[in-house]
Amino acid sequence: MRRQLLRRTQHLSLAIAILALAASGWLITRRVLEHRQEQASLATGRRVGLVAGHSGYDSGAVCPDGLTEAEVNLDIARRTAARLRRMGAQVDLLQEFDPRLSGYRADVFVSIHADTCEGNYSGFKVARVEHSALPEAEDRLVDCLWQQYEVATSLARHPNTITFDMREYHAFGEIDPQTPAAIIEVGFLSGDRWLLTAQPDRVAKGVADGILCFLAAAGTGEP
Ligand SMILES: [Zn+2]
Repeated sequence: MRRQLLRRTQHLSLAIAILALAASGWLITRRVLEHRQEQASLATGRRVGLVAGHSGYDSGAVCPDGLTEAEVNLDIARRTAARLRRMGAQVDLLQEFDPRLSGYRADVFVSIHADTCEGNYSGFKVARVEHSALPEAEDRLVDCLWQQYEVATSLARHPNTITFDMREYHAFGEIDPQTPAAIIEVGFLSGDRWLLTAQPDRVAKGVADGILCFLAAAGTGEP
């Protein structure tokens, strides 16, 4: 009798455990779906400009085996564009000296570059134009990219190598000053080559999440 009761209690606890597991699984799935919907609603109808650094112009940094910065940038820019388009954004994939840059207007603009193949450095960095017409918005964009890219890739920040070339990046002077803009160096072709070439979707997620973070903070206003 007592053994039967014990067995029944065991069965009951097992059933409760299974139910609890199923319920938490359902809750997690629902949360993930809700999060995707939130991200999609942030991106829907928003215009995003992405420059694939050096594309259509030169190779950028080159590794001894011939890997070029331009091909790495283009791959990442295409994947970032695809991610954002899937969420409903209208993405312009631009070349380094694209004629569309002149007076370009969008909700957000990000130029994607990678760093030298020399040495064995690792890390990423983000910058905006030195004299910004939209310092608050552009600081927010830069912060979002720092945070989200770090989370997605686990790369370290490399702020000490932000150069004059980044702060005075040519496209910042060509696009409409009311378009919030930033430039990201997604990693070094030397020390971060594996991440950049073997895990480009993680890299693209980092850039796309940075942009979505900015769009979330910017609300739904006009560019
Ligand atoms: Zn570059």
